[in-house]
Amino acid sequence: MFKKILIANRGEIACRVIATAKRMGIKTVAVYSDADAEALHVRRADEAVRIGPPKASESYLDIARILAACQESGVEAVHPGYGFLSENASFATALEAAGIVFIGPPPAAIAAMGDKIAAKKIAQEAGVATVPGDLDTVADAEAAISVARGIGYPVMIKAAAGGGGKGMRIAASDAELRAGFRLATGEARSAFGDARVFVEKYIASPRHIEIQIVADAHGNAIQLGERECSVQRRHQKVIEEAPSPFLDDKTRAAMGAQAVALAKAAGYRSAGTVEFIVDRKHKFYFLEMNTRLQVEHPVTEIVTGFDIVELMIRIAAGENLGIAQKDVKLSGSAIEARIYAEDPRRNFLPSVGRITRYLPPTGDGIRIDSGVEEGAEISIFYDPMIAKLIASGATRDEAIARLAEALDSFVIRGLSHNIGLLAAAIARPRFRAGDLSTDFLANEFPDGFKSEALPPELAAQAVAVAGAAQRIAAERDAASAGAAIPERWVIVQDDSRYPARLTRRNETIAVAGYTASQEVTTSWQPGDALFRGMVDGRPAIFQIERDGIGWRLQRGGAVLDLKVLSPQAAEALARMPAKKVPDLSRHLLSPMPGLLISLAVAEGQEVKAGEELAVIEAMKMENVLRAERDGTIKTLSARPGDSLAVDQIILEFA
Ligand code: ADP
Ligand code: ADP
Ligand code: MG
Repeated sequence: MFKKILIANRGEIACRVIATAKRMGIKTVAVYSDADAEALHVRRADEAVRIGPPKASESYLDIARILAACQESGVEAVHPGYGFLSENASFATALEAAGIVFIGPPPAAIAAMGDKIAAKKIAQEAGVATVPGDLDTVADAEAAISVARGIGYPVMIKAAAGGGGKGMRIAASDAELRAGFRLATGEARSAFGDARVFVEKYIASPRHIEIQIVADAHGNAIQLGERECSVQRRHQKVIEEAPSPFLDDKTRAAMGAQAVALAKAAGYRSAGTVEFIVDRKHKFYFLEMNTRLQVEHPVTEIVTGFDIVELMIRIAAGENLGIAQKDVKLSGSAIEARIYAEDPRRNFLPSVGRITRYLPPTGDGIRIDSGVEEGAEISIFYDPMIAKLIASGATRDEAIARLAEALDSFVIRGLSHNIGLLAAAIARPRFRAGDLSTDFLANEFPDGFKSEALPPELAAQAVAVAGAAQRIAAERDAASAGAAIPERWVIVQDDSRYPARLTRRNETIAVAGYTASQEVTTSWQPGDALFRGMVDGRPAIFQIERDGIGWRLQRGGAVLDLKVLSPQAAEALARMPAKKVPDLSRHLLSPMPGLLISLAVAEGQEVKAGEELAVIEAMKMENVLRAERDGTIKTLSARPGDSLAVDQIILEFA
């Protein structure tokens, strides 16, 4: 077995690989860019080597620098994680040439499968069902249109080198395909340095179900069952689970057999994933093969009991897999939710900044794979994923219940995140019923994600919690000032106000007035981010924080703003004029921190609603900003290449 390996990655996956290596008694070497000098993966590793500036192209994607780090630290092997160089055949080849083992598949298999067109060809030859489409690159929009007319709309235009949901657009008409061609090509060029795209049939409302395979160097290839990853946004997975609530044994066996056949045809070794989309009739189509460890591998680890990173390391060291297909048994259910630094309430704008509070949940059947700690910085340079929360149980229902409670008690502050959306999504009847499809999120939240309404009994609980929090805070203030604690208060919610009484008897605080009196017991103290306690004998959990003079409570995707004020303060508040918001309606503001890639307009130009104004790149996504209504451009205030802050003015309309 290897004595020392290097992990050519960052974040949660670097930490994940380090954990298994440690358990196996293997020394670990981390690499880091200047943005990550303080990162968790650096501290978790036995050694760390700086590889360059924050830009990924000059650090985590720089093969020469990583090779130098390998030589400097004297490692025998490299685990690439996912993303970055994990599916880069030249990287695997360069390591091999330097006498270092790549903990992954042979370069030829990476190259063949890394190209979606080549992969589809091999799959077809191996008898795998593929998505109907053309197996050639389209050179320009007109070529794409002629292919699309042949297949029939709707189609999907996809980057041959694509990954991470990038470089792909749906088109239902020639006009959409023209725009889609340009966007997919641009995104593919900037994300993968390879602008080639192809066209295939768009399968409406499919499920995404994939098969985990492992193969060793001795001809053994098996599959570890499936993962359902249908809950997606922008073709990027958000919630994944194993097993799929949809597959019957027959389809499962057929997909598994085809996945193994493909792995064998590709000369595969290591862990890999064969992705399919599945229609309502259980008809399945090969999408692509990912020749690396997958983000969502933990759910498979939980239901099979195998450590996939360990299998990868053992296979790379030349060991025999030692597991036969009949040894693979699925038990229980596991669900992973990806926690992203983004703002679901503001059209999922990427969110960056320092994590000021970080309290991950614990409990039976809860696993957190994370690369951050309190104080960590989420930057614009890398993937916006903060952590993966994985919940498991004997049944799917039990896993969901545990995931729901864990999401409610997962505290992350300092930046926006999608925990509320995740909580709301898994509470939906369709999710509970396992009735999933890749447009689940778009269908369930058609107007984007707004705050959810709390069911009435929880809304009443929230009032009791805010009242108790106010009383506890007032007791502390009174103790330090030697003053008496007022009994009369006013609860203000939106435009409503209710007189209330907050009183204490021993451990119990009574909140009376808003509804009937409610009794609260808790050990919560001002400053605690999570309120846990009992309200009228029922357990209550809310995330709670001070928001000016009020309280902000959150639970299950719902946000409640409540103020509990003295009668005088409530009166003063009622007399305050509403805040004036500066008029920025004539300006185009940058909705996110990022890089201005292009401006599509010039000063004096007239634009129509919906026309492209600018493209901003942040966290590897290109975001097109469009005119909201007709108008004329007065001044341009930023130039392509500029780094923009949130709300920075890009241009002004006349
Ligand atoms: P998977 O296919 O493993 O389910 P995704 O496709 O959603 O997951 O995510 C993998 C993609 O995310 C990669 O292809 C890459 O574009 C991006 N990515 C993954 N990991 C990282 C990372 N550590 N840092 C930056 N980008 C990453
Ligand atoms: P990536 O390499 O970015 O992961 P995939 O080919 O795996 O790209 O596709 C990602 C997602 O995009 C799929 O899970 C699915 O939701 C959607 N998708 C891809 N191809 C099609 C298609 N032909 N029809 C419908 N949806 C598709
Ligand atoms: Mg994919």
